[in-house]
Amino acid sequence: MRSVSIFGATGSVGQNTVSIIQNNPNAFDVHVVSGAQNTEKLAEIAILLNADLAVTSEPSLLDDLQDRLRGTGIAVAAGRDALLAAATEPVDWAISAVVGYAGLEISLAIAKNGGTLALANKESLVCGGALLNETCRQSGTRLLPVDSEHSAIFQALNGENNAHVERIILTGSGGPFLHMPLEEMAHVTPEQAADHPRWSMGKRISIDSASMFNKAMEVIETKEIFGVDEHKIEVVIHPQSIVHSMVGFNDGSIISHMGPADMRFAIGYALFYPDRTDAGIERLDFTQLSQLDFLPADTKRFPAIAIAHDVMRIGGIAGTVFNAAKEQCLDLFLERKIGFLDMSDLVNKTVHAIDNIGNCDADTIDRISKADKWSRSNVLNLVKVSAK
Ligand code: NDP
Ligand code: MG
Repeated sequence: MRSVSIFGATGSVGQNTVSIIQNNPNAFDVHVVSGAQNTEKLAEIAILLNADLAVTSEPSLLDDLQDRLRGTGIAVAAGRDALLAAATEPVDWAISAVVGYAGLEISLAIAKNGGTLALANKESLVCGGALLNETCRQSGTRLLPVDSEHSAIFQALNGENNAHVERIILTGSGGPFLHMPLEEMAHVTPEQAADHPRWSMGKRISIDSASMFNKAMEVIETKEIFGVDEHKIEVVIHPQSIVHSMVGFNDGSIISHMGPADMRFAIGYALFYPDRTDAGIERLDFTQLSQLDFLPADTKRFPAIAIAHDVMRIGGIAGTVFNAAKEQCLDLFLERKIGFLDMSDLVNKTVHAIDNIGNCDADTIDRISKADKWSRSNVLNLVKVSAK
């Protein structure tokens, strides 16, 4: 039996992880499950999986969680420090599926344990890729990608020599606004942006997919996980979301990964690695697929990917600045204080104002945290200035 912990268990990736574990009851011994606001779901999951410990990051919800788990024998904790302490407890396998910058320190804590870090929280790599990779290297922790594209690439690279990789082609569905004229995009609402045509995901990543900030994050994630030069990373729009990504080699061969748009393929692959087990995914019927389309990404309507390439060229702390600006813009868009297209404009301005804080390596949590704060306040200042 493998010991496992699930951070962000109440979210979209978390609940998919829970369902795979639930369907394989004799394979896993669940140690920690964590959530934030949704204590009802957290308690339900803790009981379902017979976890040792349930942690909410929200200190004010300790009593609430305690009430829900009284008499079950499941230990309870609350608050950021308790969550980070739980992430340092060694297990064979832990998934970092918290959303946003808050996931970085959780990933780093797991990475110190020497087990397997299944990484859904792409922000960890965008904000602190070098630090996370180095932490894994020092402790012997194995990092397995859980993002669908990166799981696809990882699988395509199985048994290959990375020196022969010529290109990595990330696919993206194009989101709900793929064919919408620019003038209309200026007026879309958060509800429209969160309505993803292919994938069922959390609200924030769904809106990031609509703006292609998610794809932009994934370009940086690719560089950090696979150590490839940024000019080898391409993005192609593939509205059917059947091909999850591709790797091109120096003999002209392309290996692609295909399957239905279901995150359980990537979570299951990381969970059973190096084996494979049925994660309950529907099987593709090729005779029912009328066509597979591939289109270039329109960088005029979706500037995010071009900004990601700037971020990689600038290097240092630029990934942190980029992610924080993007998170701050998403908050403002959700609060209806800025429009959909303002997000890329504000992120672009903030990334290119990095000299105001002085670029440096993203090699300590202190430096990362300072850059994160500066970037968020820079976005807020820009919005204030433009409102005057
Ligand atoms: P969700 O919003 O569905 O879930 C987020 C999880 O994080 C919940 O468990 C939530 O708790 C918890 N959480 C929120 N804020 C905090 C905090 N400050 N501290 C600790 N925990 C917190 O997100 P997703 O599952 O969609 O995404 C999770 C991560 O995986 C993201 O980084 C995303 O980019 C990545 N990812 C997601 C994919 C998907 O299909 N959804 C695909 C590929 C990558 P609660 O709900 O209790 O408040
Ligand atoms: Mg993805």
